[in-house]
Amino acid sequence: MNKILELDKENMMAVLEPGVTNGELRRQAEKYELFYPVNPASLDSCTIGGNVAESAGGANAVKYGITKNYVCGLEAVLPTGKTLRAGGKILKNATNSQFIDILLGSEGTLAVITEITMKLVPLPRVKVDLIVPFDDLSGLCGCALEIINNRLLPTTIELMDRLTINTCEKFLQKELPFSEAKAHLWIGLDGNKKEEVASMYQSIGEICLDKGALDVFVAEDRPNRDRIWQARQSIHEALVHFNPKMVGNDIVVPRSKVLSLIKGIDSLSRKHSVSFAKFGHLGDGNIHVYILKGNINDTTWEKVKSEAVQELFELTISLGGLIS
Ligand SMILES: Cc1cc2nc3c(=O)[nH]c(=O)nc-3n(C[C@H](O)[C@H](O)[C@H](O)COP(=O)(O)OP(=O)(O)OC[C@H]3O[C@@H](n4cnc5c(N)ncnc54)[C@H](O)[C@@H]3O)c2cc1C
Repeated sequence: MNKILELDKENMMAVLEPGVTNGELRRQAEKYELFYPVNPASLDSCTIGGNVAESAGGANAVKYGITKNYVCGLEAVLPTGKTLRAGGKILKNATNSQFIDILLGSEGTLAVITEITMKLVPLPRVKVDLIVPFDDLSGLCGCALEIINNRLLPTTIELMDRLTINTCEKFLQKELPFSEAKAHLWIGLDGNKKEEVASMYQSIGEICLDKGALDVFVAEDRPNRDRIWQARQSIHEALVHFNPKMVGNDIVVPRSKVLSLIKGIDSLSRKHSVSFAKFGHLGDGNIHVYILKGNINDTTWEKVKSEAVQELFELTISLGGLIS
């Protein structure tokens, strides 16, 4: 069930079988100058059915939201064998949208989703990425808040700590800009006019430098943008490759609490003498935290792992967050 049943340019909708990959939907939509903006880094290895079942987010959530903001219609088969349909190629649904809502994020526990109608948006003509290195994490986190408070709306505000950056470099065998910095803020921007996007990145660059950024690297052309995206998309694979024994956690806190979260994680790292790689969606407070075994022995690791995960979740909850 991996066919795109319809790409309707007029209504900006795609009707899909659940096995279509996220990456394939994006590529096909682009041919019609349309855009499916939700992009978990698993792009070509995840399906739209899986995205709906997990209500996946991704790097573009700051501007474009998450999967649930795009599902306009669903067909699903219940455990009884009954097929139900809700919504369709419509933007307003006050009749049966609850059926869609309940299946979003239900992880396959309620029904098998067999058809999805997704809203698309116009394909932006200009895309630019900024890599902003910081040695001061309070400046980096403050910068993300300041950008949004200044009514600048990037598509993407991502965090990559030094451990993550260096692991990606080793994995890809490529140098990334400013890889010696303590962390990177990666900011994505889009729009339809070059001048409009340039003016946005000028303003963002000024905010970043004001907050202590070491520099601002602007990637306007495809090869440089691809280099950054390749690194972002390889993070999971790179960390798992060099750290086969690790535990990955996905947590979300209010955007304003990310700095407290990072400080708390650094304390846990010192307490348990293991490294924590931190990366992810700073713009919406959704941070991936991978606890790496490193050189400690297996018995100690088992103990550290369960204690550190428990303490990480307690820290997250204490900051008003959730496991995501
Ligand atoms: C490298 C990487 C980066 C990621 N980045 C992000 C991110 O930034 N943000 C984010 O939110 N997530 C992220 N994820 C997780 C992402 O949400 C999932 O990869 C994706 O949504 C799952 O799709 P899948 O096709 O792999 O589903 P699977 O892993 O195969 O299934 C996931 C769940 O969905 C259910 N399911 C699948 N298809 C259907 C169906 N047709 N009907 C009913 N239930 C179904 C399954 O039963 C299962 O419970 C990432 C994952 C990876 C590997």
